[in-house]
Amino acid sequence: MKVLKFGGTSVGSSNSIKNVKSIIQSIDGQKIIVLSAMSGVTNLLVEISDNIHLGNQTDLIRLEESLKNKHLELVETLIPQSEIRSVVLQGLEKLFAEFHLLIHGEFSENSANQILIFGETLSTYIFNEYLRSCNIASILLNAKKFMFVGNLENPDTAKINQHLQPFLKNISEDAIYITQGFVRIDKFNRISTLKRGGSDYTATIIGAAIDAEEVQIWTDIDGFHNNDPRYVANTHPLSNLSFEEAAELAYFGAKILHPQTISPVIEKHIPIYLKNTFTPELHGTKISSEIHSKGLKAISAKDGITAIKIKSNRMLMAHGFLKKIFEIFDFHETAIDMITTSEIAISLTIDDTKNLDLILNDLEEFGEITVEMEHSIICIVGEGLIEDANTYKLFEILNEIPVRMISYGGSLNNVSILVASENKVFALKALHQKLFSSKPVAIGLKF
Ligand code: ADP
Ligand code: ASP
Ligand code: MG
Repeated sequence: MKVLKFGGTSVGSSNSIKNVKSIIQSIDGQKIIVLSAMSGVTNLLVEISDNIHLGNQTDLIRLEESLKNKHLELVETLIPQSEIRSVVLQGLEKLFAEFHLLIHGEFSENSANQILIFGETLSTYIFNEYLRSCNIASILLNAKKFMFVGNLENPDTAKINQHLQPFLKNISEDAIYITQGFVRIDKFNRISTLKRGGSDYTATIIGAAIDAEEVQIWTDIDGFHNNDPRYVANTHPLSNLSFEEAAELAYFGAKILHPQTISPVIEKHIPIYLKNTFTPELHGTKISSEIHSKGLKAISAKDGITAIKIKSNRMLMAHGFLKKIFEIFDFHETAIDMITTSEIAISLTIDDTKNLDLILNDLEEFGEITVEMEHSIICIVGEGLIEDANTYKLFEILNEIPVRMISYGGSLNNVSILVASENKVFALKALHQKLFSSKPVAIGLKF
């Protein structure tokens, strides 16, 4: 069994959905297809939620209309046979009637999550009906019946397998199952999400749960690039990445993969292929336990980082000081990404500021606290990077941009630097130029 995930742009128009159909048909064997919502739809649903919260009826009606039209128009262009189309449109009307009740009913965290996942309900319904209209037998699976992810960081894939297996009854060699990405049932059995971009994670969780042969992630770019193509010119796709390299890059902001995508498949050595729905003939990127080459490979950046400095004379010679500091973060369930220390101070970074006030309150007794928001961690990755003869060039950047923290030597595969977010793009370009290209590129620093 293979797991194939198609992202928002891949299901974003009737033409791209036709591409998805051809890709699926060209791949042998049984497969589970995980779909995202059409591109832009989850953002629209977030807006709908915000407007319910604000009690803004006029905007709510407008947004509901626009969501509906987008999907009605898709069905109109995708399914030419008028009889089949009218049945599919009736089904769609039914889904929208339920959605109408949901958004005009009582608003709670629970209903907000149900609203958020509606895009995936729509895309999978339409895609399944489209395949059937082309005489391709497919089976729609309801992710709410098996995606039991109580612990977001460490899903119990055996439990998911146990709930999923009863639905995988079609023994045909080419069985096609379709299911919703992004959806999860939390530890209180409530509908929730795997966080934004979470359909990638759905695919690898399912892959690990069913011991899939491979996971394919189909998107709108030809694989994992060596830098963020949204900010840097002349990036190129990497044909191979190790699990560790890809995990670091995804965790530290490479938007092509949800931060947790890699972890479920590492232990089972299930390879992930990143492919472009619009140019399926290209190789893309294979992520696996194989190490194809050593040295500098890629750069990514994670925004929304807060740096906290604790300055204390009591740290001098005091064993147990760091333990007490870490216990505070642990107590407030806040993960630390980077740490640097000096004799009298420790600086660390977090990305989740939900409990920041409580953390600061508890830290106060340990010394003078400084907080700096709006920073970005830039992560430079490659197996054995630290031993690469070119790595020294990295430090030349310290002359050019104000680096707030640097983490070197934590592993052989990674160097992280913390910069103010307003300098992120400059830093990405400067590093790209120094590390990957011989030609100078136009860069501009904002202070
Ligand atoms: P999908 O909707 O298919 O999940 P995403 O928009 O989430 O697609 O991810 C693909 C996008 O990620 C690309 O279009 C690209 O702009 C962006 N991206 C950021 N960093 C990278 C990278 N290192 N390699 C490739 N794409 C990247
Ligand atoms: N639709 C969800 C989002 O936009 C999940 C995904 O596309 O991966 O975040
Ligand atoms: Mg994505």
